[in-house]
Amino acid sequence: VTAGKPLLLHACCGPCITVVHRELTREGFDVTAYFYNPNIHPWKERERRLETLTRYASDMGIPLEVDGEYPLEENLRLLLGSADRCSACFSDRLEATARMASGMGIGSFSTTLTVSPYQDLSRIIRAGENARDKWGVEFIFRDYTPLYRESVRLSREAGMYRQPYCGCIFSERDRYLRRR
Ligand code: SF4
Repeated sequence: VTAGKPLLLHACCGPCITVVHRELTREGFDVTAYFYNPNIHPWKERERRLETLTRYASDMGIPLEVDGEYPLEENLRLLLGSADRCSACFSDRLEATARMASGMGIGSFSTTLTVSPYQDLSRIIRAGENARDKWGVEFIFRDYTPLYRESVRLSREAGMYRQPYCGCIFSERDRYLRRR
């Protein structure tokens, strides 16, 4: 068995990694997952998503690196201080992933964020390319939004926790505001 090409996959949660891990593996990548998401508020919600991801990674035999820090103040300052909150949020997470990949000697990185039809892909691409340029690791971008429904189905079948909002406390509020 020839080893695949090593790739560090930024993972935000269990449901999103299902199809993304499968597709990258099919492409021949040897995937290690990386959880760095200080944008998930509050703490209990972060714990819940991380637990779901950890269980799935363990069941599937996916190596998982977890950033144990939870710099909430720093993250809130970043989001509040940015004219474009989501771009700053993507950059923070993808830069951390590229830096981690570089430190681990892994030559490429990607993210599970591109499975969600609710995210702006062009901002994710820009953040990934900037992180690539800064840390000298290849950014693997794939549009996985056509697989979103399948990820919903797979995660439901597996009885996974599915989060009702993107992550930050602002997105938690906005889901209610949108419904009104
Ligand atoms: S809505 Fe999502 S992507 Fe945008 S800042 Fe909040 S957590 Fe980050």
